Amino acid sequence: MDEQTTRNLPSDLFIGGKWVEGSAGERFDVSNPADQTLLASVASATVEDAIAAVDAAEAAFADWAARTPRERGEILRRAWELIMADKERFARLITLENGKPLSDARAEVAYAAEFFRWYSEEAVRNRGEVMHSPASGARILVQHKPAGIAVLVTPWNFPIAMGTRKIGPALAAGCPVVVKPASATPLTMLALMSVLEEAGVPAGVVNVVPSCSSGKIVDALLHDPRVRVISFTGSTEVGRTLLKSAADNVVNPAMELGGNAPFIVCEDADIDKAVEGAILAKMRNIGEACTAANRFFVHEAVHDTFAEKLSARMGAMKMGNGLEEGVEVGSLVNADTRNKVAELVEDAVGRGATVLTGGKVPEGPGYFYPPTVLANVSPDSRCVAEEIFGPVAAIQAFSDEDEMITLANATEYGLVGYLFVGDMKRGLAISERLEYGMVGLNRGLVSDPAAPFGGVKQSGIGREGSHEGLMEFLETQYISLDW
Ligand code: NAP
Repeated sequence: MDEQTTRNLPSDLFIGGKWVEGSAGERFDVSNPADQTLLASVASATVEDAIAAVDAAEAAFADWAARTPRERGEILRRAWELIMADKERFARLITLENGKPLSDARAEVAYAAEFFRWYSEEAVRNRGEVMHSPASGARILVQHKPAGIAVLVTPWNFPIAMGTRKIGPALAAGCPVVVKPASATPLTMLALMSVLEEAGVPAGVVNVVPSCSSGKIVDALLHDPRVRVISFTGSTEVGRTLLKSAADNVVNPAMELGGNAPFIVCEDADIDKAVEGAILAKMRNIGEACTAANRFFVHEAVHDTFAEKLSARMGAMKMGNGLEEGVEVGSLVNADTRNKVAELVEDAVGRGATVLTGGKVPEGPGYFYPPTVLANVSPDSRCVAEEIFGPVAAIQAFSDEDEMITLANATEYGLVGYLFVGDMKRGLAISERLEYGMVGLNRGLVSDPAAPFGGVKQSGIGREGSHEGLMEFLETQYISLDW
């Protein structure tokens, strides 16, 4: 246990600027996945609590929306500064509740805070337009107004960044929010509240309602007519459920869902660079990322060299409690996630895959799984169709470029693809044929607050980050003017 990090951790609901225990008095446990020690017992919001959070948001809305964009922007910038001043405490807390190594947690904190800095700058760039109507003689005036109260539902794999990626643009746009963090990792989001308060975010503008009845409370929120935006990051399965609930009141959806990223290595690629890219795309966050490389397609001419070098790098990574300096592979978040990874490896091996490194569940405690490289993966293996969400690189060799592109696109997902290639003209041509919202071209990392993050097909609707992320929390109003 890291006493300094866990001392005085907030663990109640945060509604209307106050810490409250919740109407039913129920609590649920949050533990450290690396050693199963209890970190906190967290208040569980009921439907009444969730609606109280909407009441608080409603009460705060008019004042927040009326603040000048500059004022909202300066509060967000202050929040960025405060997180960065306390980044080590946030990183340790993320590692404690999620299991990821400190190096990943530190990177997450910097990434998370950057959404506040970026949106402090975007808050003052809410532009409209005025034009002549081509035929009627009227003027067309277009402006963007805050969309209203937004419900933000976030996953456990980035306990703070998936929240700030939504809170930043919502606050910049003038919207108050109700945040429902993942039950496995609510502590970092709760800890963020004192930073937002100190930065000057008024009571009721950001409310947090962790709950062990997530389905019930989010459904109630989506049926409250005051809620106008649902911004969700999580699995495609839950995303579908929320889209159905959102349909009843026609709530604006922003959906960041699952992925099944191809990682393509062409015969003219710089292999060392491709291996470094693969380490980032596969091992960042121990593979627990929607952007994680899931299917490796490597040209047969470079297959053995790439597989050998990747196995050597992954096999040498240090696994252990994420709080220990130098650890590169921490614990996965829970038993289900670890067991699924083990099952997918067993399934692939049963269908003929060769284990080049890893592949065995270590003794407990903790939900560890070692970095694993599989070659000769059969296309009908489960790990080819499903998100692995763990440190397993599953390689298939290819010889024909067209066939490889067809296989790379043969998934209902379309979040991100990675491509390593020598000839940039060829690289851009292949990138355009990849049915993905994002492409890492000779890069193993695409996440950037200044870029539009999001997927096509069943990976989502809308974008986060960049100016596009702000637009998710704005409604367009057009006024036809008799000039
Ligand atoms: P998840 O099971 O879909 O849960 C995400 C959030 O939804 C959690 O807060 C969860 O609460 C809540 N939830 C679960 N069931 C719900 C329901 N019926 N109604 C309303 N809310 C519900 O996803 P996860 O396992 O936390 O995260 C992993 C998934 O997220 C992966 O598929 C990954 O690809 C995806 N992801 C996508 C992105 C992206 O940007 N595209 C980024 C990160 C992760 P509880 O924790 O209480 O269940």
